[in-house]
Amino acid sequence: MKKHNFSAGPCILPQEVFQQASQAVLDFNDSGLSILEISHRSPAFVKVIEEARNLALELLNLQNKGYKALFLQGGASMQFLMTAYNLLNKKAAYLNTGTWSSKAIKEAKLFGEVIEAASSKDKNFNYIPADYSIPEDADYFHCTSNNTIFGTQMKSFPQTEVPVVCDMSSDIFSRVLDFSQFDLIYAGAQKNMGPAGATLVVIKEEILDKVKREIPSMMSYKVHIEKESMFNTPPVYAVYVSLLTLRWLKSRGGISAVEERNAQKAKLVYDEIDRNPLFKGFAAVEDRSAMNATFNLTDESNKDKFDEMWKEANINGLSGHRSVGGYRASMYNALPLESVQVLVDVMQNLEKKA
Ligand SMILES: *Cc1c(COP(=O)(O)O)cnc(C)c1O
Repeated sequence: MKKHNFSAGPCILPQEVFQQASQAVLDFNDSGLSILEISHRSPAFVKVIEEARNLALELLNLQNKGYKALFLQGGASMQFLMTAYNLLNKKAAYLNTGTWSSKAIKEAKLFGEVIEAASSKDKNFNYIPADYSIPEDADYFHCTSNNTIFGTQMKSFPQTEVPVVCDMSSDIFSRVLDFSQFDLIYAGAQKNMGPAGATLVVIKEEILDKVKREIPSMMSYKVHIEKESMFNTPPVYAVYVSLLTLRWLKSRGGISAVEERNAQKAKLVYDEIDRNPLFKGFAAVEDRSAMNATFNLTDESNKDKFDEMWKEANINGLSGHRSVGGYRASMYNALPLESVQVLVDVMQNLEKKA
């Protein structure tokens, strides 16, 4: 029986994507070949990656605006250093909102000066800093739109003249934004777009070619753009399954439609966290993430009972990250509202029994 999968990542994808993806392993588009055994240079796969790159730009409303989309490998973690390698000449400003931002800062320091514009470390990253300034002479500003581990999400982004780089790994394609306010967006596929192994990078081309250092080919956005994401063998299957998910998203009305469903799911679970005296939210209310809801029990003595109950209800992946503890309900695009209702029912049943 299919579980209610609240896993933070890799995470749930649409059931129909799983079906199409498994069919392609057996016989890709009635070609008599598996998607796993075809050349990445074959016309059939070139079509796949082109459609995926175009669809990503289309869904983000970034077509014909000077942006290129790439599918690279190495995860979002590779982008922590690749962004700095390609963009950091002297100094860059970073907003430190959690584990992933901190890791990005650590990598960037290998390439130049890093200014922490602001940090929410003082409160174990349970909020998004509000008042800070970005030095005008910074090469770029880097932020994390959604903090997967702590359950906070940026609702607005600073207006600045310097290029804005954003790690959107865990909320890409989940809400409508003016994506043209970003100059570089990156996202590991495995949170909201596809299986692990592919990383989407969307770059405004004009920000490249500004650093003095020599960049190794595999690290160079320019090289990957010139080779249309085919400098070396791309992660063929991960790109294909990402394409299936992007098609699914488009067929369901695109980002604005999925944003509405995501808002319903988030409201359902946060209303219960706020109402139920046995639970309390972790993240500051105004910064709560619609993707990852972090919460704790008010009385730890209910832990064993609650853990048993949600597992009994066929729920998977609800335990919080070790740096926060408690629970985390990750509600990515493909998670149905019904799964959130099952969780809320368990929370209410716990209250009746406690
Ligand atoms: C998961 C995650 C990462 C790390 O992604 P990898 O693909 O494992 O390198 C980085 N940033 C955010 C916001 C994430 O959620």
